[in-house]
Amino acid sequence: MAQHMHISEYEANEATLLLSCECGWKGKTTEANGELHEVVMDIECPKCDKMLLIVNLIVDAQKYFDWKESKKE
Ligand SMILES: [Zn+2]
Repeated sequence: MAQHMHISEYEANEATLLLSCECGWKGKTTEANGELHEVVMDIECPKCDKMLLIVNLIVDAQKYFDWKESKKE
């Protein structure tokens, strides 16, 4: 089952958060496939596309975009 997490919690834990998938893949959220939707971001296994984490952005989606921008520098 995919975990659910609020964006603020995700931001706080993103650097250390490790995901694991039943196919055997393990990695950081930054190594997984993120797919952004209007109110949530899905993080999927890069090997089998299973959804591992759902991040709720509904409180402040702009904060996510700002955070995503800041990661590029
Ligand atoms: Zn997988």
